[in-house]
Amino acid sequence: MQGSVIQKKAAEERSFQGIAVAGGICHGKALVYWQEAEQIPVHKISESDLPQEIAKFEAALIATRAELLDIQQKIASAIGSKDASIFDAHLLVVEDRTLIDEVLRKLEGERKNIEYVFDQVTERYCKTLQAIDDPYLRERVVDIEDVRKRVLRHLLGKQPYRLNTLNEPHIIIAHNLSPADTVLLNKKYVLGFATEVGSKTSHTAIMARSLDIPSCVGLTNICQEIRNDDIVVLDGYTGLLTLNPTPESLARYRTIKKQQEALEERLELIRDTISTTSDGRHIILSANIELPKDLEDVRKNGAEGVGLYRSEYLFLNRPNAPTEDEQYENYRLVAQRAKPHSVIIRSLDAGGDKFIDNVRSGEGERNPFLGCRAIRFCLQHPHFFKTQLRAILRAAIEGNIRLMYPMISGINELRRANILLEEAKGELKQAGVPFCENLEVGIMVEIPSAALTAHILAQEADFFSIGTNDLIQYTIAIDRVNERIAHLYEPTHPGVIRLIRMVVEAAQSQGIWVGVCGEMAGDIHLTPLLLGLGVDELSVGASLVPRVKKAVQSLNMGVCGRLAQEITQAQSGAVILEKCLAVAQAHYGELLF
Ligand code: PEP
Ligand code: MG
Repeated sequence: MQGSVIQKKAAEERSFQGIAVAGGICHGKALVYWQEAEQIPVHKISESDLPQEIAKFEAALIATRAELLDIQQKIASAIGSKDASIFDAHLLVVEDRTLIDEVLRKLEGERKNIEYVFDQVTERYCKTLQAIDDPYLRERVVDIEDVRKRVLRHLLGKQPYRLNTLNEPHIIIAHNLSPADTVLLNKKYVLGFATEVGSKTSHTAIMARSLDIPSCVGLTNICQEIRNDDIVVLDGYTGLLTLNPTPESLARYRTIKKQQEALEERLELIRDTISTTSDGRHIILSANIELPKDLEDVRKNGAEGVGLYRSEYLFLNRPNAPTEDEQYENYRLVAQRAKPHSVIIRSLDAGGDKFIDNVRSGEGERNPFLGCRAIRFCLQHPHFFKTQLRAILRAAIEGNIRLMYPMISGINELRRANILLEEAKGELKQAGVPFCENLEVGIMVEIPSAALTAHILAQEADFFSIGTNDLIQYTIAIDRVNERIAHLYEPTHPGVIRLIRMVVEAAQSQGIWVGVCGEMAGDIHLTPLLLGLGVDELSVGASLVPRVKKAVQSLNMGVCGRLAQEITQAQSGAVILEKCLAVAQAHYGELLF
């Protein structure tokens, strides 16, 4: 008898194209971060698949039971057996014969995959119980929902990981990661991440760059394609995710990684130099931060202070908003660490894609980016706003702090915000609390109406910082988090460039400085254009500082000015981009990947 030869076939390499959002290459095991809101896959099965599907179901029930017993055990030893008994009801659900039998009947009858059948049956159970006017039964729905999610996770092979408690390096694959999720990521264990939704300027992408974690977004259906522990390579430069990479692919990626590391070593040499063009124009190069701990990277990468501190991150992942004292401590710490450089604290920008439970701004709005976001929320909640303003005013005597209001659409908002600032000063004075009297106050120019009225705003603002992420979103009407239209998001659109030019001219005519703190500032393909348009400052993700510094040092104002002049009549973003690329390539081609 001939022995059967078991030939282990190497898993086939497959690649998925997404949108690159944070550079770098990583290779490792995937962890599919499953969120309940995701779609349950549905497909037909044959009769011969039935035993396998039933076995899968039984295994999921056993695993869920073990999980529940484990939790019960932990609760019992931590807070006593009385509290642990709340899980008895959950255990009854996993053992409920009526439910199990119904699932099995439907599985045989409908011949659809077990995940789908189980989801359908339990959903119907929950709906039926919910409709009965009995508080006890309605409470049971919560237990069934919980068990349902647990069983589904086991069926789908997607464990309920907490992103902040990983203890082994992984590449996270998720439908979406909110800024609140991303802020919890531990760089030690998160090699990179890929999501199905999002775009380059979503706050999740911005966080990825800030954390310097390779990542890509817009990988449609990737959660269905990748399983836990699959081996993947994520290329954050091109947005390509490769499943089961071949040895050849791995070798290619190793080469790219080496080239990048060599470039980074060269850039390290200019870390402590100033970002001055070759003909002597100093462009202030500062960094954007989300949390005080980011200051380490600001210094490490040689930035001149903080051009944008997104203060709303202090409000994330907590039941209550931080008190005035807590905010004061936080801002004071940032200002002290940034010394001798300055820190621009942006007042709370909640809303849009940053939902903050304890603030409840933008909640349930149909169009949160056009809703009660940022300064609009703060002006509607003056007590809340003044708490932050007092904390900033107090901290400003401990370091070089400037204040910046987000989402200003016109002069009235600026004036109303300043009135509240004066009230906050009055309150501190009355309480005898020391604070900085002459805080510089600037605005973000990120709404087209602000750019169009920059000549008016410049008379009452101490500085401008152009928030191109939103300015582009609102000018071209492109939702900045929607991957389906991400290709239409065009920083070089002539309409956008024209607005930036207007803002710079308005600032110059009033003698105030103007910076750019949107992601456009960190895109070295566009540095010649921004310099040519006359901006004084660029504030970028800390990890991008060395590249931008090198780009600035490689340019001269003559070339940049000519470029800005040349594109005045350009009719399309593509033409402008092409001209920018030509200048960038000629002056620092080795930086462009
Ligand atoms: C911007 O809009 O460009 C900006 C820097 O602010 P945020 O990305 O936080 O909206
Ligand atoms: Mg903005």
